[in-house]
Amino acid sequence: DTGHTFLFTLNERYVIDANFEGNVARWINHSCVPNCRAVVEENQQGRRREDRVLIESLREIAAGEELTYDYGISLGERLTPRLKKIWECRCGHARCIGTMLKPKRKPVDRSKNGTT
Ligand SMILES: [Zn+2]
Repeated sequence: DTGHTFLFTLNERYVIDANFEGNVARWINHSCVPNCRAVVEENQQGRRREDRVLIESLREIAAGEELTYDYGISLGERLTPRLKKIWECRCGHARCIGTMLKPKRKPVDRSKNGTT
């Protein structure tokens, strides 16, 4: 209800709740024009519980600059003004779309993992 979460969808089966033994990455904020991205690295032995989240930079980042990534939150329901307000984005970028919500989840392109 607050739009504040430390949950990260790891894969179809597991969600990371960074409130429990989460590291400092849980403090990385969302931005509509981020300087990082979150990439899920699948466990090579197929143990989905051991998939990992990597935060990769998308460009050079100056010392002291805040790290951000696009949360890409998809609730699987119609985006009402109420939901957009709950999940309001305050990234402050000139191209901010005003919400952290995505209209519809796009299929994950696994072929791009590990190419950078
Ligand atoms: Zn924004």
